[in-house]
Amino acid sequence: MTDESQREKLKQHFARRVTTQARIVLETWQKVRDGETAGDALLRSELNDAVDKLIKYAHRFEMEKHAAVGDELKTSLSGWQAGQQLSPDTQEKLQGAIDRLSQCTLRRTDQSQDEPPRTLLRTPIYIALDSPESSHRVIKQLEFFGFRAAAFDTPQALIDECSRHKPETIVIDVNFGGSPQQGIETIEALQQHHETPIPIIFVSEDDGSIGTRLRASRSGGEEFFHRAVDPGQLIEKIETYTHSNPIEPYRVLVVDDSRAQAKFMENVLNRAGMKSRIITDPMLVMDALDEFSPEIIILDMYMPGCTGMEIARVIRQQDRLHSVPIIYLSAEDDVNKQLHAMSLGGDDFLTKPIDPKHLIATIHNRGRRARSLLALMIRDSLTGLYNHTHTLHLLDVEINKARQSGQPLTFAMLDIDYFKKINDSYGHPIGDRVLRSLSLFLKQRLRKTDHIGRYGGEEFAIILPDTREQDARTVLNEIRERFGELLQPAGNEDFRVTFSCGVADWTGEASQQLCEKADRALYDAKRAGRNTVAAASAGADA
Ligand code: GH3
Ligand code: MG
Ligand code: MG
Repeated sequence: MTDESQREKLKQHFARRVTTQARIVLETWQKVRDGETAGDALLRSELNDAVDKLIKYAHRFEMEKHAAVGDELKTSLSGWQAGQQLSPDTQEKLQGAIDRLSQCTLRRTDQSQDEPPRTLLRTPIYIALDSPESSHRVIKQLEFFGFRAAAFDTPQALIDECSRHKPETIVIDVNFGGSPQQGIETIEALQQHHETPIPIIFVSEDDGSIGTRLRASRSGGEEFFHRAVDPGQLIEKIETYTHSNPIEPYRVLVVDDSRAQAKFMENVLNRAGMKSRIITDPMLVMDALDEFSPEIIILDMYMPGCTGMEIARVIRQQDRLHSVPIIYLSAEDDVNKQLHAMSLGGDDFLTKPIDPKHLIATIHNRGRRARSLLALMIRDSLTGLYNHTHTLHLLDVEINKARQSGQPLTFAMLDIDYFKKINDSYGHPIGDRVLRSLSLFLKQRLRKTDHIGRYGGEEFAIILPDTREQDARTVLNEIRERFGELLQPAGNEDFRVTFSCGVADWTGEASQQLCEKADRALYDAKRAGRNTVAAASAGADA
């Protein structure tokens, strides 16, 4: 690696620290703005400290834009004297700087290739509900999940703002503005100014008729909530319409002995934005399967040493590769031979010369279906997290990696406190919602390289590669604190939920022993009074 690229890598690594600090500033600002404790000396100094750190990190890691916004914040903050209320003028200046901070933080996420931090404020979500209290409640919840939301009082204000700044999605009352269906009318007018429609979530207190639903859907309505809106449910929907879940490129393995053909395929695949691995010697296929774990395999029919069909059979003999689509490539146009090839575990047959469009379309179709089947197999349907079996499989994979690389590895078990009581007091569906909100919370706050699984009913397991026990503990402790602040809505009242957690670092043992270690730490955390994170190496009181 050249000095330059090494430096770039280091910079990228440390950039995370700056963006994380930026997030802390944004979150602290939100607390100030929520107004519950405006003028509170503690918050003022918390914000001050957060900004100081941001400036320090930004300078150290040469992120000029962050440094500049940091300085701007610092200057504006000097207008907020200790012991005084925040003046509207200073507030406005601070808000301006905060907006710029969230902008450069956002842009940073778009740029960085590997692993953007997940909890950043995104482009806004507009809320146009008839009741200001509901708007306020929804916005507060959204902000906890790192979304930026703004509420509107009148259709005109909404239309004006949309023309200035296109939102990710709009949550709107069907009757927003006062007269029947005025909300839908507003959306119809609004959509005309955009080439791609804004996804809309409609809310309707009384009118759930087919006519209204149709009109709403035609205007870009993706969802229609009839009667009571549950903020938890809303957030789940909003999450699906925001760009926080970009589609991962498909990983495609091509086995073809002809170098020219292989190169051609590589080009076509890469241009379509897919990740490809090409091998020209079929004897290397096992290594490629292990290292690359392809989602789709393309096999040449005739190669020296073995045929594509033979390779397919070997691949299918491994349970975990059962559902990976296999596509044959050949000049073969004899239907009988093709059918025979398919019976040996192939899914599709493409004849050479390959039309790139046809190839890409086939891969997309196969890939999409394979992913959804795989998701059914390895994911828990309630939370979308990995299920018990797959979590254990991933733990084995990560233990192997750690053994080879010498990097640390930490495993955590997490269990919701007094969950039975939550079910008993608010009902099972609310309990389910709590499970989903915790899983979303974890997904947003952990790294992309961490694996999160639903281990059992209200138990979660987290695998943190390249992480020491002490660091995992710090991270989970912060998550624990923040999750405990989250208001869980149940009808007209809100409640809070906490969890206990045990973390254990891997010290060479088998996965089962590591699980037991983490489980014991979790038990310690429960015994120590719950709502705490305990480390295996330190015992409950550390
Ligand atoms: P502790 O603080 O000791 O962990 O107490 P707890 O009540 O959380 O633990 P306990 O193991 O006694 O109860 C777990 C409850 O979780 C019992 C079960 O009904 C509930 N549960 C398990 N899976 C689900 C689920 O998928 N949905 C809902 N709503 N509840 C579930
Ligand atoms: Mg529990
Ligand atoms: Mg339990």
